[in-house]
Amino acid sequence: ESTVDWRAVDEYFASTLLQEDGALVAARNAGLATTMPNAEVAANQGAFLKLLAQISGARRVLEFGTLAGYSTIWLARAVGEQGQVVTLELEPENAAIAEENFLAAGVAHRIETIIGPATESAERLINDATEAFDFVFIDADKPNNPAYLAAALRLTCPGAIIVIDNVVRDGAVAEAASADPRVQGVRRVAEDIAAHPELDGTALQTVGEKGWDGLIIARRH
Ligand code: SAM
Repeated sequence: ESTVDWRAVDEYFASTLLQEDGALVAARNAGLATTMPNAEVAANQGAFLKLLAQISGARRVLEFGTLAGYSTIWLARAVGEQGQVVTLELEPENAAIAEENFLAAGVAHRIETIIGPATESAERLINDATEAFDFVFIDADKPNNPAYLAAALRLTCPGAIIVIDNVVRDGAVAEAASADPRVQGVRRVAEDIAAHPELDGTALQTVGEKGWDGLIIARRH
């Protein structure tokens, strides 16, 4: 039986397969100076988001939860020179750190960071009749997942991809009676996706340096 662990496997694949350059490493390290250290996606998950966005041909990405902009940089690279990422962040200090990282990564011109509660920022985007997004990454405060899905549905067209992070939570998602509002936020958003006639969705469990967690991936048809 192998004696290596999930972290070692993540490190192996990250060092073998991924193109995590200095700007991404700096953005990951900058996460330590934010209000939520170590809350960014793992490198292989960032690369997965980039591939998903590219596979779907995404040009306009909406992100809930910026932190230091680590996932945002992966997504900004996915959309290419003609693309745009709008990222929503509650904490001004996190947004300031992220914007430095966007400049260092050479993608600041493709990214708009909106500071404030994401429900309010999304409401403004809806009221402003913002051009539709084709890829949405939901990774902010988990109790608000259902509200973020509802906003995403008002800001996307058929064909859009919606990805939701941290949906397994060490298995806690399977506990129907959980008192954790983050778990209930995941369970409710999963039910909302299941009930929505225009959404096909699935969930993938992940293990790695971030422990046992997972992603919901949904497509609007
Ligand atoms: N997507 C980032 C990445 O992978 O690099 C990680 C985001 S971190 C898990 C969650 C972020 O959501 C934090 O920066 C936190 O400040 C932000 N956040 C929490 N509540 C929020 C709210 N109500 N509106 C917008 N952002 C919020």
